[in-house]
Amino acid sequence: MKCPRCGKEGKATGKTWKFGLFDGEGYTCPACNKPFSAFYRDGKLSHTVPKAK
Ligand SMILES: [Zn+2]
Repeated sequence: MKCPRCGKEGKATGKTWKFGLFDGEGYTCPACNKPFSAFYRDGKLSHTVPKAK
């Protein structure tokens, strides 16, 4: 998963959770050193938090 802040490849933290209809996945970006989340619906990427620019 690419970091929405800088576009570098983020690392999955292994953290996942349910968010309504979405499945959330936690990532950290080694370049920004900040976390971000990806949300999937029906196995497809829906959006990231924060949103990609
Ligand atoms: Zn980044």
